[in-house]
Amino acid sequence: MPSPGAHSSPVSETIHSLIVCNQCDLLLQVTLLERGGKASCGRCGNVLYRSQADGLRRSLIFALTSAVLFLVANAFPIVTISSNGLTNSTTLIEAAYRLIRDGLPSIAMLVFVTTFLMPLLEMMALIFLLLPVSLGRTPPGLSIALRLMHFVKPWAMIEVFMMGLLVTITKLNAFASVSPDIALGAFVLLMLSLTLAVVNFDPHYFWKHIATLQENKVAR
Ligand SMILES: [Zn+2]
Repeated sequence: MPSPGAHSSPVSETIHSLIVCNQCDLLLQVTLLERGGKASCGRCGNVLYRSQADGLRRSLIFALTSAVLFLVANAFPIVTISSNGLTNSTTLIEAAYRLIRDGLPSIAMLVFVTTFLMPLLEMMALIFLLLPVSLGRTPPGLSIALRLMHFVKPWAMIEVFMMGLLVTITKLNAFASVSPDIALGAFVLLMLSLTLAVVNFDPHYFWKHIATLQENKVAR
């Protein structure tokens, strides 16, 4: 059976959800685990889930780190290109603007949406959800923020942009001197940080945590 959670008030017991063991189909109640704990099936011993107590905190730390990296990545130039005595540096937004000017608005829109807008919305939604929770409060507009996160997730594609950029830099090097700038490093770190923020966010555990916060509020 899942080990009893840290919060086992009569109210909390009524809202526990159920989980089916994927090995023997036994139906069990889900409870919040203590830090480092794990829940095993009472019949076959299969490990059902592990404590994610630190997951939400880690997710928030990575989301806040991503926000700082996002600022750096967009405020500074990504690359500097030198050719025939001319030097040119560009930020992501400037690059998107140049694409519009060069008659490629759809490509500009794609770059803007997948590399700027969607990652921004994704990290804002995470911070919006996790910051109040870390302070022991229920975030306002909870379901809207979660739905937004779910919607933007497939569209945030910094890694695709990075791949394209690295291929372009390699190819351009044949014609001009291309040197990476500070924003390129920030984009690489942002890609890692945002992935870690999303991976550490367990929606199942998040809902359990919210339920506990609401019960504690009622009980007080
Ligand atoms: Zn089982």
